[in-house]
Parts: sequence; structure tokens; C-alpha cells
Amino acid sequence: MNDPNPATFSASAADALVACHDCDLLYRKRPLREGEKARCARCGALLYTRKPNSIERTLTLALAALILFALANIYPLLDFQFQGRAQQSSVLSGVRELYAQGMWTLAMVVFVASILAPLLKLLALLYVLLPLHFGRRPWRMAQVFRWIETLHPWAMTEVYLLGVLVAFVKLSDIATIVPGVALYSFAALIVVMAATDAALEPEAIWERLEPCR
Ligand SMILES: [Zn+2]
Repeated sequence: MNDPNPATFSASAADALVACHDCDLLYRKRPLREGEKARCARCGALLYTRKPNSIERTLTLALAALILFALANIYPLLDFQFQGRAQQSSVLSGVRELYAQGMWTLAMVVFVASILAPLLKLLALLYVLLPLHFGRRPWRMAQVFRWIETLHPWAMTEVYLLGVLVAFVKLSDIATIVPGVALYSFAALIVVMAATDAALEPEAIWERLEPCR
């Protein structure tokens, strides 16, 4: 069912066109029921899908991620004990330490990738999803949702955790290092944020935003 005539194209989800990612065959988009998948008739590739309760599941996961984010930043990341001296480190104290040692560019990158971008992304997601769950649409929702997509590549909590784990392994030979609550929270945050991204169905949100797009 090709529809190459541009005169019939409009922003409405009901009559939007969708191209197969694999073979480029063009389809007129049909609304799906929750849990249904649309596949290409020619090559069998997945065209689009309708995940069940996408907004509610993403909202729940984003709330869980926000709680984990708070725990990861409030509690100590590592307890460092060396020659009778004990020191606790947190995500923010790591950033401060880098800044104090003159590595302000690195401090800025760590701050943006592990604190600012994930926090803004979660808050923006909640700003969009919470009202949608209650059937309302907040101010400038379309712009906020676009920011979420822009922020996505900058939220790199997993890179930060990898750095912490490398330091953990390297320093464990010369000092006693005890993982703190924040380290477990951080690890759980990465999993929950990945699950949030997987549950998020941009199409379901754009459909609700249609009139103000
Ligand atoms: Zn195809």
C-alpha cells in the first residue's frame, strides 16, 4: 500500500507514512492496539509497535530512577581506608576533587555526564509523563520532549561507574576500599535508566501531543 502522493501527507498519526527501515517500502500508518506489532509485508522487518502501558511503565521506572539518583548522590560511593586514615567519597566530592586539582574540564564533563544530564533527563521525563498519566498536557510539552531526546546521549552514568570500578580494582591492592550505598544505587540506576529508555515509546507521546506539535 504505497502512498507516494505528498498531498495526502499530514501530521496526523492516523494517516502518517512510515518507511520500512530495511527495504524502504512505504506504508500508510495504521493505529495499533497495545501489544501489537506492524511488520513489513515484503521483508518482514518490524515497522512500528505499540508497547502496552508505555506511559505508565516509563513513568514508574523514571520515578524509581529518580529515587536511585538521589541515593547515589546522598550516600558515600566508596569508603577509602589507607594507613589508618579513612575517607569517604561521593559523586559530587569526586567532581570537587578534580576541580581542586586543576582538572576543571574533566570535572565539568563528569558533572554533566553523571549528574546534570541524567537529572535533567529524569525531571523532563516526569514533567512530560506525570500529567499525561492524569490526562493533562503541561506547558511546552513538545519542546521538553525534544530536550529529552537531545539530553539522551549526554547522560552517561555507566561511563562514570566504569571509571569508579577501574579505580576500585586498581586501588584495592594498596588500600581497603568498601563499596558504599551510592555505588549499589548507581549500578541499579544504570539498569533502571536503561529500562526507562526501553519502555519509552516516543510515538505514544507524540500522538498525545499532536495538536501542539
Ligand atoms: Zn521491508
